[in-house]
Amino acid sequence: MMNKFILSTLTVSLVLALSACGDNGDNGTDGTNGINGSDGSNGTNGTNGTNGTNALITQTPLAVGNANCLNGGVQIDSGIDTNADTVLDASEITSTQYVCSPAVTAVNDTELLSSLNNSWFSQGAAEIETAESVWQKIDSQLANNANVSIATASTAAEITALKGSAKNVILFVGDGMGVSTVTAARILDGQNKGMMGEENQLSFDKFPFSGLAKTYNVDAQTPDSAGTMTAMMSGVKTDAGVLGVDEDVVRGNCASTKGIEMITALELAEIAGKSTGVISTARITHATPAATYAKSADRNWEDISDMDIANTPERANCEDIALQLVNFEANLEARYAGVDVDGIEVVMGGGRRHFLPKDIAYNSNDAVSTIEGDRTDGRDLTAEWQAQYATSAYVFDQTSFNAIDTETTPRVFGLFNESHMQYEADRKNDIAGEPSLSEMTATAIKVLDNNDKGFFLTVESGRIDHAHHAGNAYNALNDAIEFAKAVQVAVDATSQEDTLIIVTADHSHVFTIAGYPKRGNPILGKVVGIGATEPSLASDDMPYTTVGYTNGLGFRDLGTQTDADASYAAAAVTGRVDLTDVDTSTAGFHQESLVPLGSETHAGEDVGVFAVGPGAHLITGTNEQSLIFHVMDYAGNLSGTPQ
Ligand SMILES: [Zn+2]
Repeated sequence: MMNKFILSTLTVSLVLALSACGDNGDNGTDGTNGINGSDGSNGTNGTNGTNGTNALITQTPLAVGNANCLNGGVQIDSGIDTNADTVLDASEITSTQYVCSPAVTAVNDTELLSSLNNSWFSQGAAEIETAESVWQKIDSQLANNANVSIATASTAAEITALKGSAKNVILFVGDGMGVSTVTAARILDGQNKGMMGEENQLSFDKFPFSGLAKTYNVDAQTPDSAGTMTAMMSGVKTDAGVLGVDEDVVRGNCASTKGIEMITALELAEIAGKSTGVISTARITHATPAATYAKSADRNWEDISDMDIANTPERANCEDIALQLVNFEANLEARYAGVDVDGIEVVMGGGRRHFLPKDIAYNSNDAVSTIEGDRTDGRDLTAEWQAQYATSAYVFDQTSFNAIDTETTPRVFGLFNESHMQYEADRKNDIAGEPSLSEMTATAIKVLDNNDKGFFLTVESGRIDHAHHAGNAYNALNDAIEFAKAVQVAVDATSQEDTLIIVTADHSHVFTIAGYPKRGNPILGKVVGIGATEPSLASDDMPYTTVGYTNGLGFRDLGTQTDADASYAAAAVTGRVDLTDVDTSTAGFHQESLVPLGSETHAGEDVGVFAVGPGAHLITGTNEQSLIFHVMDYAGNLSGTPQ
């Protein structure tokens, strides 16, 4: 079929060719375009341009304390290297930026596990929750009571907002100031002012909140100051005689303290950027002040000569308490990662002997002993402190104390006595003169309140305790009155809106107010009954004093002697003494005691806690003493927990 078609086409073509001699045919169609020709050759290169200028960037690390980055960081300078020397000269810098390191103002929870895992600590934290919920509940009850015309709608929120609202926190500790001491001091103070006395109010009697603290130590029914102040400062009850470590410590064993060091409220405040201070009329290395800054297996390791390292070499791995005070900044920074603190701003008290070498060449003009210093390592820690803090004031007598410019002095280190400072009644006898507790409190607050972030201050009246130990109510009560005066100084120098003030004692003493004296009877006098003018007689037909001690050195009649410790020169007096012709109200009278002991003892009953300012409402009821830490932490948000 296909072949037949081809054949037919050939036949037609043949027919057309045979007829060519006829008319021209039509033009054929155009052919297709030809292919493109090849490219022409490249032109010649142009001439080179001139070189451009380079931009340079330099990075400079900034140390902590740099004016542009307080916590350190990096300075980034940039500009054009105009003179092409590959160095960014100062004149070439056109832009400077700072990348600053953030401040570490709170310690990470994982670094606080020794506290957070401690049952005393968690118990205190839980008690805060309970106390707060009690207030919320009271608030809602008031809101539902039509008879209460109080604007309660906002109070629940206001109570919650109190957390962290204390910019400043001040803890006052009257060492050994049990409830009977507070009562008797109140009466004596009133009688000194011409009142009957009982109706008088000490400064902290006027505080709106109070409660009771259980003072026992983990291993002791009747406590000591080291264990009790550790409870207040760290929120953790511990054994008697140890500082800043938990109950797993073995007293006197240095190695046993490693890893169980408790962080204190003062340390947390320091890390939070607040100013911090600790003042005491005792040696500043003594148990109560030391519990704010030191970790020690023994409260008696006040300087290296107290540690008997020759016979117990393992103690060489621990620092004595005085050294820990001077090394406070470095030690705290070493203990917690990223922490950068500037050290304690105000330290004032006694105890100079623990900071000076045992070398007469280092005696001050206030020295009592032939050789003032005790240190056997040759170190002069007062000089080391001054070298560390060049712009600060080291003071050791009344004159240098009075000369402190509280607005321009960033830091004060005051060591006013070789050992403890004087009893307030005995202060006039100090060799070089020394400030009172209320004067130290006023100066401390003036220095500390120069910090916009606020401050944390601990104030101890250390010698209420010492006078009681010596069996001398006169000095115990006079020091308690001076303590109350110092509290008033703090109340006047601060605002209740932003300052929590807590006043308490670490423990009590076996000091009693006895018999049935009539109203207004002199508190240091003999018991005179209601309606009577002559002293009541006991079953032995002898008069007896209102205040007295269960144990101790007992009766002394030292007249105008204002140093209570003079009583230690003689043995304890046993039994009753006829006081008929004795003036029992003098400074030198020491009350009788039942049980003869070389030193009167602490007592185990609860002590009062008094509070004013943000968070003070949490001081109610009867609680473990360690709760005080948690109230301060809550009010001041010292640990920086999110709110
Ligand atoms: Zn004591």
